[in-house]
Amino acid sequence: MDFGYPPDTELLRTRVARFMAEHVAPADPAWQAEAKLGRMPLAIMEPLKERARAEGLWNLFLPSLKQGQPGTRLTNLQYAPLAEIMGRIPWSPEIFNCNSPDSGNMEILQLCATPEQRDRWLDPLLAGRIRSCFSMTEPGTASSDPTTLQTTIAREGNQFRVRGRKWFTTGALHPNCKVAIVMGRSDTEGTLPSHNAYSMILVPLDTPGMRVLRNLPIMNHYSPEGHCEIDYDVLVPAENMLGQEGEGFAIAQARLGPGRIHHCMRTIGQCELALELMVARAKSRIAFGGPLSGFANIQDWIAESRIEIDQARLLILRAAWTMDREGNKAARVDVSAIKIVAARLQTRVLDRAIQVFGAAGLTDDTPLAYLWTWGRALRFIDGPDEVHLRTVARAELKKGAL
Ligand SMILES: Cc1cc2nc3c(=O)[nH]c(=O)nc-3n(C[C@H](O)[C@H](O)[C@H](O)COP(=O)(O)OP(=O)(O)OC[C@H]3O[C@@H](n4cnc5c(N)ncnc54)[C@H](O)[C@@H]3O)c2cc1C
Repeated sequence: MDFGYPPDTELLRTRVARFMAEHVAPADPAWQAEAKLGRMPLAIMEPLKERARAEGLWNLFLPSLKQGQPGTRLTNLQYAPLAEIMGRIPWSPEIFNCNSPDSGNMEILQLCATPEQRDRWLDPLLAGRIRSCFSMTEPGTASSDPTTLQTTIAREGNQFRVRGRKWFTTGALHPNCKVAIVMGRSDTEGTLPSHNAYSMILVPLDTPGMRVLRNLPIMNHYSPEGHCEIDYDVLVPAENMLGQEGEGFAIAQARLGPGRIHHCMRTIGQCELALELMVARAKSRIAFGGPLSGFANIQDWIAESRIEIDQARLLILRAAWTMDREGNKAARVDVSAIKIVAARLQTRVLDRAIQVFGAAGLTDDTPLAYLWTWGRALRFIDGPDEVHLRTVARAELKKGAL
């Protein structure tokens, strides 16, 4: 067992870290100022994307990249430390075309798109020319149990009518977002078992009958690309179906495995950043005659954060290693485990860092408040903790009694 990164991964780490330091970090204040006005800072992002692509730091997340598709083909284990570096500035993954939800959408298109769907949607996504969103969650149903989804995808001649209300569709307000992947019930008669009753279908955003109703704030924070509530009552051609009718659940599983691990990798970077800030503040802030770092409780917070981050990173790397060796399905339980560990870790470490900063930790003078909010959201994104705990518990129980 070797705990070091191989030389090629080390080299990539250095290149991504340098790119972030030289090009992304200096642009962050201007990006934040623009985003605060509710605008997607495209003028900042597009030149950076061009540069990243030219340097071969592109589509790093996709192990199944094929000959001729743009980007650098990496394993999950190689990609993990790079995602960690990108996580430190939450908008940066788009610069490398590694952002959610596009990464998950590209994975499923890579897996099951027809040649026409590839031409129209996958190729522009891989090139970073367009963006996409993913509409599964609904306001009216407990969406952690997708067998309750109410949106329907019903055949009408050689078209499908998609009808229903979705929310938390991330990215629908991004000016480059051109297509939604919508999950809904295609077995409208209710005759099939629930795992064959749902489908996924491509809905171009300019389809008449698709209405973005609002951008939902996440703990009072409005993101410029939007977490949107959307009303669908649209007709799309039958060839927009992804895979076969009834394969929605199978495709959802394929999509969420890698997507979940990518979130966890970025979380580690955000926790590392919080710990660095916490240490710097503890050393420089003087109270009661000495630096905060002299207090035993502050030292405990620092030590606990270091230990917990390292534990979580090891679990994530093991899950990535299993995905590479045995496939996404074999890593399912490990991915559920790290999803719980990483999301909980993020709020714990960020909470400690905020406390060390005093009231300043709650302002936007540091990234801490936003990163805490994101950590809290991560306990729902791609499934709440409780659903993942259930997956881990079931696997353990299956191992059998004595
Ligand atoms: C910032 C953000 C971005 C998001 N982006 C997207 C997106 O792009 N596309 C999309 O489709 N969705 C998105 N989501 C939605 C997210 O995937 C859902 O919130 C999540 O799947 C949970 O569904 P729900 O909110 O309907 O909770 P519900 O299903 O109503 O669950 C509520 C609570 O019930 C409990 N619970 C549920 N099941 C169990 C169980 N088996 N055992 C014990 N307790 C249980 C849990 O405590 C859970 O938190 C996003 C969410 C956030 C916060």
